[in-house]
Amino acid sequence: MRAHCKRSQRDPVCGMEISPIAAVDQLIHEGKAYYFCSNACSEAFEAEPAKYIRVHRQHGIRSE
Ligand SMILES: [Zn+2]
Repeated sequence: MRAHCKRSQRDPVCGMEISPIAAVDQLIHEGKAYYFCSNACSEAFEAEPAKYIRVHRQHGIRSE
């Protein structure tokens, strides 16, 4: 296999670093691509994406 220099992505379910070309499954959520090491991970994410997405809070901005 050739070593592509694509940035590795993090499987949001198990936290594993995964290369997009090696990913078993991929989902697009709110315009962002997520890559998964297994179907079990992608299914878990699809069921409850909010559980796995870390919301990046911007400094100094509070929505509540
Ligand atoms: Zn995984």
